[in-house]
Amino acid sequence: MSDTFRALMIVDEEGKPKAAFRQLALSELPDHDVLVEVSYSTLNYKDGLAVSGKGRIARRLPMVAGIDLAGTVVESRSPEWQAGDKVVVNGWGLSETEWGGYTRFQRLKPQWLTRLPDAFSLEQAMAIGTAGYTAALCVDALEDWGSIEAGGREVLVTGAAGGVGSTAISLLARKGYTVTASTGRPESHAYLTELGATGFVDRATLAERGGALQKERWGGAIDSVGSTTLANVLAQTFYGGAVAACGLAGGMDLPGSVAPHILRGVTLIGIDSVMAPAKKRERAWRTLAAHLDAAHLARIARVEPLSDLPRLAEEIVAGKIQGRVVIDVS
Ligand code: NDP
Repeated sequence: MSDTFRALMIVDEEGKPKAAFRQLALSELPDHDVLVEVSYSTLNYKDGLAVSGKGRIARRLPMVAGIDLAGTVVESRSPEWQAGDKVVVNGWGLSETEWGGYTRFQRLKPQWLTRLPDAFSLEQAMAIGTAGYTAALCVDALEDWGSIEAGGREVLVTGAAGGVGSTAISLLARKGYTVTASTGRPESHAYLTELGATGFVDRATLAERGGALQKERWGGAIDSVGSTTLANVLAQTFYGGAVAACGLAGGMDLPGSVAPHILRGVTLIGIDSVMAPAKKRERAWRTLAAHLDAAHLARIARVEPLSDLPRLAEEIVAGKIQGRVVIDVS
């Protein structure tokens, strides 16, 4: 084990948060019970905000960025975990209030760790990452609501070519749903078709403010865009349908009306991955293990080095990343 190792940190530079590479020693890590050697982390939209400085994600500085990590337990003061265990961490305040995954080693609380499912390697777990695990939370929530049927009405996925969107399309298609993708990138149609989308909607048509109740089209939807897009999707959802909303890539506002909810019984399901309880997480990872096509996952993700994170962070915030980026922290 080397004495020091590289980490991407958010530091205070003249009162502003700024990303910087730093050498850390094990003795500088937080005093949590489980030491993990990190193999891979990922790039999510939230990581893009943190590293580019376009969003204040870190609530204390200095902060090791990275909301996800996958690695191997090196030592543990908790009986729940032993050296050699392969683990995944998604969320739990990593990169916000707790030091995160852009580092070779991290100390973590035992309750934040999820056992790596047998179906996945550490690299695949991070190809999924928070974006993919959130897509699974959305699919589970829509199925629990019960308004979508395999082979039935179209299920819409917005932000389709992004991380949440790509994984959601693959999962829904493998489960037999008819999936329509909303994207602003026509050049991604072939990619999204490979993942299982059979219809397309230009995201510009959802970005303009529309009527309170519009022609019913979707049996259900997964939305990672928010704002007018989410308001329009709700207004286009069939009587009794549901929309799982997890993101704000298009904005945090929701300029709609109660009409879809009170006249069509449409439900807006809120999805949070960060503090989701262990049972929901384990179920989402089971959904992924059972239904995520390995070839799709390989198509969705690519691996990039830690040193490229500053550039990649700018790209994801600008909506230019297709699918998922795994970060090799070695
Ligand atoms: P990505 O950047 O990978 O994907 C977002 C996609 O949204 C883009 O690929 C693009 O899709 C679309 N998009 C980007 N900008 C705009 C815009 N201005 N208007 C409309 N559409 C836009 O991000 P992730 O998939 O990692 O995350 C998606 C969202 O979900 C983010 O807001 C993120 O913060 C949120 N999220 C929330 C979680 C939770 O716990 N609730 C967990 C994980 C993510 P296209 O090019 O196809 O149009």
